[in-house]
Amino acid sequence: MDEKYFAQKIEQKWQKRWAENKTFEVEINDGREKFYALEMLPYPSGRLHMGHVRNYSIGDALAWYKRLQGYNVLHPIGWDSFGQPAEQAAIKKGVNPREWTEDNINQMRQQLQRLGISYDWSREIAAHRPEYYKFDQWFFLKMLELGLTYRKDSQVNWCPKCHTTLSNQQASGGVCWRCGTQVEKQSRPQWFLKITAYAEELLSGIKEIEAGWAERVLTMQRNWIGRSEGAFVEFQIPNSRFQISNSEQQKNLEFGIWNLESVRVFTTRIDTIYGANAIVVAVEHPIIEHNFDNFPEAVKAKIEEIKIEKAKPTDYGEEIEKDGIDTGLKAVNPFSGEELPVWVGNYVMMEYGTGAVMSVPAHDERDFEFAKKFGLPIKQVVSGQWSAVSEGSKDQKTKSEDRATTDYGILVNSDEWSGKTSEEAKREMTKFAEENNFGKMATTYRLRDWGISRQRFWGAPIPIVYCETCGTVPVPFENLPVELPESAPFTGVGESPLAKVPEFVYTTCPKCDEPARRETDTMDTFVNSAWYYFRYTDPHNRELPFNPEITAYWMPVDQYIGGVDHAVMHLLYTRFWTKMMRDLGLINFDEPVKKLLTQGMVVGESYYSKSKESYVPPDEVKTVRDEKGKVVEANLKSDNSQVKVAVEKMSKSKYNGVDPDDMVMIYGADAVRIFALFAAPVENELVWQETGIDGAVRFLQRVYRLVYRWHKALVVSGQLQLSELNGELSQDARKLRQKTHQTIKRITENFESGQFNTPIAALMELSNALGDFKVEPKIASEADLFAVDEAIKSLILMLTPYAPHICEELWEVLTGSAKGILQSDEKFPVADEALVKADEIEIPIQINGKLRSRVLASPDATKEQLEMMALADAKIKEYIDGKEILKIIVVPSRLVSIVVKAQQS
Ligand SMILES: [Zn+2]
Ligand SMILES: [Zn+2]
Repeated sequence: MDEKYFAQKIEQKWQKRWAENKTFEVEINDGREKFYALEMLPYPSGRLHMGHVRNYSIGDALAWYKRLQGYNVLHPIGWDSFGQPAEQAAIKKGVNPREWTEDNINQMRQQLQRLGISYDWSREIAAHRPEYYKFDQWFFLKMLELGLTYRKDSQVNWCPKCHTTLSNQQASGGVCWRCGTQVEKQSRPQWFLKITAYAEELLSGIKEIEAGWAERVLTMQRNWIGRSEGAFVEFQIPNSRFQISNSEQQKNLEFGIWNLESVRVFTTRIDTIYGANAIVVAVEHPIIEHNFDNFPEAVKAKIEEIKIEKAKPTDYGEEIEKDGIDTGLKAVNPFSGEELPVWVGNYVMMEYGTGAVMSVPAHDERDFEFAKKFGLPIKQVVSGQWSAVSEGSKDQKTKSEDRATTDYGILVNSDEWSGKTSEEAKREMTKFAEENNFGKMATTYRLRDWGISRQRFWGAPIPIVYCETCGTVPVPFENLPVELPESAPFTGVGESPLAKVPEFVYTTCPKCDEPARRETDTMDTFVNSAWYYFRYTDPHNRELPFNPEITAYWMPVDQYIGGVDHAVMHLLYTRFWTKMMRDLGLINFDEPVKKLLTQGMVVGESYYSKSKESYVPPDEVKTVRDEKGKVVEANLKSDNSQVKVAVEKMSKSKYNGVDPDDMVMIYGADAVRIFALFAAPVENELVWQETGIDGAVRFLQRVYRLVYRWHKALVVSGQLQLSELNGELSQDARKLRQKTHQTIKRITENFESGQFNTPIAALMELSNALGDFKVEPKIASEADLFAVDEAIKSLILMLTPYAPHICEELWEVLTGSAKGILQSDEKFPVADEALVKADEIEIPIQINGKLRSRVLASPDATKEQLEMMALADAKIKEYIDGKEILKIIVVPSRLVSIVVKAQQS
C-alpha cells in the first residue's frame, strides 16, 4: 500500500479491472430481485458538463447502494444522437453528421469511463444507428395500424428567403436564424401521433405514480393535459352573411360548430353567462373568414394585423398584450336574449376549445383585462359574499371594480337563476341548455396531438411512400429500416436535405411496383427518447424493439433521474408510449417509471466588470468572502474597479463553467463525484466552488490515512469474532461501535428516502470518530481491533457508492481480495439496533420558548424523571430563581418546556 493517496493511479487500475471482469454487466433472472436505475440519456454534444456529472453521480450512488444490498441492478447508458446540432455542424462546417456524432460519442464515452460510472456498457444504444431507429419506424407503422398515426395540414415556421422550414429555436424572435428575414407560418401536411386518445388516462394514471414523483412535475403534466369540464353553448348570429354549402357545413362540424349561423363557445362557468358582454373569436374562426368581405376596412386591417403578429413564433408562457376589435356581428345570449358584440381577439386560439369564448369580465381575469382595455361594460352576476369553493388562483372574496372574482357564490342579476349557488346553476343551466337544444355538457383538453414531422436530415425517416395510383402507402415491416443515405447536400436553404437525394426519394410502390416517392420528413427526436430505456433491457434484438419476456423482468424503471426541464414533453410522451405499447400487447403495465428524481442545476459564480462592460475570468478578480464562502467584495485586479458577482447557469461566455475532465485530472473522479453530491441536496441548485472540491479531497485522504495506519494490524489479526475476543471492550471501543452502527442506520435511512448529501456528512463524522480513537495499532487489544475493523470496513462499504475507486483499493488492502467488492459478494452493512440505541441522549430545556440548557438522559427516562432533572440543572435554576412556574411540559426523549410568569416591571 502506498503511503499517500494517488487518485489517478487507483482510478485507472479499477476502471480497467471492472471492464475486464465485466463487473457491471447483468443478466435476467439470476435469483436476485431486480432494480432498474436510470439516468436520462445525453445528447452527444462532444463534452460532458457538470450537470451531466451530477446526474450520473446520483444514479451511480444509487446503483452501487442497491448492488451492495443484494439487488440485480440494471444501470445502462446510451445516446440521444439524432437532432439539430449535428445538422448545424454539417451546414456550418461541412462535416458529415454521422461522423461528427460518432466522434462525439467516443469522446463522451471516454469521459464517462474516466468518471468510473458503473454502466453496463454491453447495452449501450444510439438513436442514430439503423438497428435502433428501425424500431422508431416499426412503432410508427404499428400505430398506423392502431389508428394512432395520421396526416393532416399543420403550420410550420417558414423563411421566405431561404425557402426552408425552421424549428422554433431557429425562428426565435420571429426572424430566421440564418438571414434575419421575418419568419412566416406555412401550412403543410405533417404526420401526427394521437396522444390525445390517451388524454384521460394520462391524467388519471398520475394517481399510480403520485407517491414517487415530485408534485411540481405532476402539476406541470396536469396543466399540460389541461382538462376542463364545462359546457358548449350556442350563440345565434342573426346578422352573419354566411353562404351555406354542404362541404362548408361539414368542415364546420369538424370545428365543433353545429351550424353556420351561430358560434359555439366552450365555458367552464355557464353560471356567469348573464355577465357576458361579448363573444370573442379567434382570427382563424370560420365566421370571420365567411364575413370578411363585408367587414369595415378598420376591422379587416386589425384582423390582418393580428394574423401577422400571430405568425411570429412566441415562447411558451410568454404574455402577449391583448388586442382585438368589434366586428359588427351580433350574437344572441340564449339565456337572456341580450345582443352581444362579436369581437376578434388575439388571445383566443382556434386550436383550443371551439375557437370562441364568451367574455365575462366580472368573473374572469383575462376577460377583465380585455374589457378594461377596450372600455367594455362589466356586470357582476355572482355575489362575492359567500363562497364555499374557490376556483382559479386568486382567493380574494371582495368584488370591486378593480378586480375580477373567479370565486363561486350566489347568482345575482341572472333572471330566474338568481339566488342559486354557482354549483346548482352550473348543473341546472347546462341541463336547460340541453333541453332547449342550444348547449350540452362537455370536457375539453389543452393537450394537442403530437406532430412528429421534421424537415430535416438527421432523424429517423418516416416509413411512408407516396404513389400516384395507390396514394399513401406504408413501407412493409420486412423492408425496415428505411435507412438514411450516407450524406446529403447540407445548405440550410431550400427543401429538406433528404428531398435532394434522388436515390433516397425515388423508389417503387410496395403495392403496385410503379415508381413512387418516399416521405422526406424525418421524426421528432422525442420519438427516440420515448422508449429508449425499454431497448436497454434487450438491446441487440433484431426482430422486435424488445422481447416482452425479458422486458417484463426489468421494467418498470425503479428510479429515473434527470432534469426538471423534461417534466412535460419527454415524460408525457414516454408515458403515452408506454400505454400504446401496452395496447400493442408488448407490456402489461401502465406506468413506466415508479420513482422520478429531478435534480437541480449546477451553477457557478460569474464576474461582470462594469468598467470593461463584459464578463471577466475569475483569475482577474480578487474577492473577499465571509465565513460561509459568500463573496462580500469583488474588484478587478488590474484597476481595482468594482465587479458584480452573480451565481448563474454555467456558460463559457461567462467564464463560470468548469470542464469535468480537468477536474478529474486534478482532483480525481472520486472527489469530483463526492463534491457533486455533497454540496447540496440533489433537488437543489449546486453552486460550483473549488474550495468545496478541496474538502472532498481532504476527506478521501483522511480515509486513506486511517486505513494506512491500521491496515497491518488488522490484516495480522484476521477475521475476529465478537464472542471469541480476549478481553473486554473498552469504553472507547464501545463508543466507536455505537457510532458505527448509528451511522449505518442513518445512511440506510437517507438512501431509502433519496437523500444523497447527508450520508457523506455522516461518513465524515464516522471517520472523525475513528481518528479520535487514540489506541496505537501495535498495542491494540483484540477487542480494540475488532471495533476498529468493524468501523473501517463499514466506512468503506458505505462510501463505495460515492467513491468506488478508492474504496475498492482500500478493500483489497484490508481483505487481500483482488476480485473487487461486488464479486467478493460483500454487502452493505446492517445496523445492530441494540447498539444504535444511545446510552444517553440530549434533551433541550426551554424557558418561555427559549432554549436555556440541555441535560443528558436515558432515552427511556420518564416524564417525572426529566422534569426533576430539568429543575435541578444549574443554568435553569438560575433562570427560574424567584419566578413563579406556571406550567412544565415534558415530551419524553425530546423536550422539557417550562413556562414562568413574566416579571413585573
Ligand atoms: Zn432565412
Ligand atoms: Zn402504387
